[in-house]
Amino acid sequence: MLFKQLFHKESATYTYLIACSKTNSAILIDPVNTDIDDYVALLKEHNLTLKYALDTHVHADHITASGLLKKTLDCQTAVSALCGANNPDIHIQDGDVFDLSEYESIKAISTPGHTAGSVCFLWRDRVFTGDTLLIGGCGRTDFQGGDAGQEYDSITQRLFTLSDDTLVYPGHDYKGHFVSNIAQERLGNPRLANKTKEEFIEIMDNLNLPYPKLIDIAVPANRDCGVLVQSA
Ligand code: FE
Repeated sequence: MLFKQLFHKESATYTYLIACSKTNSAILIDPVNTDIDDYVALLKEHNLTLKYALDTHVHADHITASGLLKKTLDCQTAVSALCGANNPDIHIQDGDVFDLSEYESIKAISTPGHTAGSVCFLWRDRVFTGDTLLIGGCGRTDFQGGDAGQEYDSITQRLFTLSDDTLVYPGHDYKGHFVSNIAQERLGNPRLANKTKEEFIEIMDNLNLPYPKLIDIAVPANRDCGVLVQSA
């Protein structure tokens, strides 16, 4: 297998490339539109065929490259219908399995809370948590159908029930962290460790975060996988 963690500096977004080295088929999780040339070059360098471009949710802080990748490389796009996405090839449902090959597959776990349609992806010994669970934090829940109580349930019932040594690869990091694991977050994440659901909701309701700069551009674009679809 081949695995790469890529970083988009302006939005502090992590994009993940997973490839099966037996078949050279590949998948990208949360690609960013302005980095498409880098993805195409990287795929070419390793002689990979992109099968899927997956989004953990409709992002508010950057525009996805999934639609551009579909146009350029003829891959399939996938995001949850609960995010209001208009035209992905696949509306991701809980438990969906994306087969990279007969040797490698990635499973979707529905984790609403940051947005109504947020999902995480489980592959081998690692989980890609999007904005649901961040290293020492979690995604805000104050727009796009966000719900702090749902986020608490998603994290504690769907993610913290994975084995302790499952590696946690988040959708963003703003402090230079790359990876964590389930035990570290369950025992040490300041928003979640030893917190009741009520205490978590209280924390999330009082974050007083600024309105995301790109949200009015990014969300409508991302509902169309980052590209405008011309009506016929
Ligand atoms: Fe987000």
